[in-house]
Amino acid sequence: MSPLLSLRGVNKHFGALHVLADVDLDVAKGEVVVVIGPSGSGKSTLCRTINRLETIGSGSITLDGSELPSEGRELAALRADVGMVFQSFNLFAHKTVLENVTLGPVKVRKAAKAAAEQRSFQLLERVGVAAQAHKYPAQLSGGQQQRVAIARALAMDPKVLLFDEPTSALDPEMVNEVLDVMTALAREGMTMVVVTHEMGFARRAADRVVFMADGRIVEEARPDHFFSAPKSERARDFLSKIL
Ligand code: ADP
Ligand code: MG
Repeated sequence: MSPLLSLRGVNKHFGALHVLADVDLDVAKGEVVVVIGPSGSGKSTLCRTINRLETIGSGSITLDGSELPSEGRELAALRADVGMVFQSFNLFAHKTVLENVTLGPVKVRKAAKAAAEQRSFQLLERVGVAAQAHKYPAQLSGGQQQRVAIARALAMDPKVLLFDEPTSALDPEMVNEVLDVMTALAREGMTMVVVTHEMGFARRAADRVVFMADGRIVEEARPDHFFSAPKSERARDFLSKIL
């Protein structure tokens, strides 16, 4: 079966810095890939190139068999197909929770407002924040805001969801409420690429762990294999520091 998302020979530089070096990555429909690696290894840049928030120097990125567009109307459609959840929530501060979730479907997917609102309520229920629907983001806890951000991404019916350290900015007691939502999505068959330092989540939810260092994918393995017997020195060193 051909992969849903495919990166081939992707290279990117920031000036002299080779931030992504010959990255090949395939993600099958329904697969959950957890990306780990030291700070500065290129994990965020990888997510941002998949979402075309960053251009690439060479190589190709395809989604569902089509090359990712780099501009224009096709780019807006692509962004709708690739959902992204950031470390810093990135909700619209001057819009209510419900408006945050409903905006994309109405503006980009041209959904009718009433139908979009009904669906948004269902999604807010699913992530456990329906009671907050008419509040503003600043009135919510970090964990609640991040769950709204997940609902907002889901509202676009993305083909793949990218998470870039979604729990790193949260107080410790709020981490699990977000990871629980992500674990449920993984079990329901959502295709996900998740950058995280939460190794418990990786063990529980990942089909595959991808270990990056210095802009390269150094190692890929099933989580049980990766955590019990990492092959590379870099991965062993990384794991010894965080576990
Ligand atoms: P990670 O998410 O794994 O910590 P990043 O993808 O954020 O890594 O960054 C990889 C490297 O690229 C780092 O050395 C970082 O400083 C550099 N970098 C990231 N974004 C930019 C940018 N816009 N301009 C210049 N350098 C950048
Ligand atoms: Mg990062």
